[in-house]
Amino acid sequence: MKRSRRAMRRVVLYRMFDILEQSYGIDVNREEFVGDRMSLHEIDAALAFKSDSRLDELRGALERLDDGSFGVCIGCKTEIDWKLLDKEPARRMCEKCEKEYNRSSSEYVEAHSLQ
Ligand SMILES: [Zn+2]
Repeated sequence: MKRSRRAMRRVVLYRMFDILEQSYGIDVNREEFVGDRMSLHEIDAALAFKSDSRLDELRGALERLDDGSFGVCIGCKTEIDWKLLDKEPARRMCEKCEKEYNRSSSEYVEAHSLQ
């Protein structure tokens, strides 16, 4: 079943907490965050000293959940399959656009490494 915006926000937050705990040894009291109380501002405060691309990607997903653009493909502007988002909430492209993107970027690399 497709998750609500609120449920998806929690999935994203929990993934961020996993990274904080596993990579940085920061213990997060998850109970405090149940109920959507943590604002982006507070999240930023918690992440301020981290430079972590996975956290950045997940933070981007939270931002899109807040502004309503979450789950929309940046390539073709259609909705991304929720099953894919469930697996990877930071995903920004649908399957079709991602394939296209990967193909064209590998063509780009090939074309330029020949010179
Ligand atoms: Zn697309």
